[in-house]
Amino acid sequence: MQSLRGTKDILPQEIHGWHIVEDRIRYITSLYGYRELRNPIMEYTEVFKRAVGEDTDIVGKEMYTFPDRGGDSITLRPEATAAVVRSAIQHNLTAQQQIARVYYSGPFFRYERPQKGRQRQFHQFGCELLGASSPEADIEILTLAHDFLESLGIKSRELHINTLATPEIRQLFKQELISYFTAHLSDLSEDSQSRLQSNPLRILDSKHPGDKALSANAPRMQDMLDTESKDHFSKVLSHLDSLSIPYTVNPLLVRGLDYYSHTVFEFTSTALGAQDALGGGGRYDHLFEHFGGKHTPSIGFAFGIERLLLAMSAQESISEAPKPEIYVIGFESEESRRAVISCAHALRTLSGKQVIVDVQNRSLKAQMKEADKLGVKQVVIIGPEEALHDTCIVKDLSTGMQHTKLMTELHNMFS
Ligand code: AMP
Repeated sequence: MQSLRGTKDILPQEIHGWHIVEDRIRYITSLYGYRELRNPIMEYTEVFKRAVGEDTDIVGKEMYTFPDRGGDSITLRPEATAAVVRSAIQHNLTAQQQIARVYYSGPFFRYERPQKGRQRQFHQFGCELLGASSPEADIEILTLAHDFLESLGIKSRELHINTLATPEIRQLFKQELISYFTAHLSDLSEDSQSRLQSNPLRILDSKHPGDKALSANAPRMQDMLDTESKDHFSKVLSHLDSLSIPYTVNPLLVRGLDYYSHTVFEFTSTALGAQDALGGGGRYDHLFEHFGGKHTPSIGFAFGIERLLLAMSAQESISEAPKPEIYVIGFESEESRRAVISCAHALRTLSGKQVIVDVQNRSLKAQMKEADKLGVKQVVIIGPEEALHDTCIVKDLSTGMQHTKLMTELHNMFS
């Protein structure tokens, strides 16, 4: 039996990196006053169809959708924002002009072609700031994301940023793009030809060389911006300047989903290869209304945790997992093995250190060898003789020095 294609077991020898990322998630979000929201992994399919958009790759090709035994259409979540908004409306998280600061982290599912940095079950950490339309809200989200990447030591990265303006302007822009690309239809890739009418913005971030060449000369959203969108965007950029957060304005950055307006952004890393996006996000001012809620302008981002770990390990910024500190050794007699169990138990409680004991009735030599292999600092030997006299031998493995101690002395050493 094998795991499903595109899914991975996260093994004990790999988990330390995950714990570092999870610790940083808790720490940085707490500095900004964000609290965790844990949504179910399954939602009604309609939640994603309505929010993400029927013409997107996610909804069109990638969702794990199935009828449950009651006949409802269920989808394993491919992204979080739609479910966060569903949940915020259901539980009134932004009632009475309140804003809500939430974060999430967990597994997501997309039926994609697996490759480095791309899986069918992957993990995301994201933040959403619900109920605020100001450029200061954008900056809070951008600095949180920036601080998070800094705290993980991911240096080889770039922030790309763009504005998608208002839905009305985006509609006009779409028309302009359709006319422009229609005039060059035969030079477009097959994919782009098929999304020309439904989602022409996506052509702008196509990786196909022909599409890229056409996109370089395509109409620019920047030339169509209204005063409000221009103001909003320039304020965001000037805040980034004052905070000395480097960025590149990228007019071709559109993000894949239907719900974005105004600020959109993406963090990329050169350490990642073809799938170079660490994460991204943007403003979604009209998604709540789409779900039948009241107008609640919002902004958020999501990072892919596997990609963060790839970038961290490429620059060797994952520290070593902590090693066990003490190995308590007993052998031969029943008294010796009993003394080991109670000694190890007392040491764990008194010292809070990681204490390992043998559970296979192995010899002194085999246990010493294992202690060495595990890299422990100290061994405590309670052989048959020591067990009779309530003593033990404490040996420091780095210096080789050893001393006989009373058990009470040992307890004092570690308390
Ligand atoms: P998206 O919602 O598509 O912008 O995804 C946000 C981030 O999640 C991406 O930048 C990736 O880091 C990560 N991500 C998205 N899809 C996958 C996938 N299939 N496998 C691994 N990571 C993914």
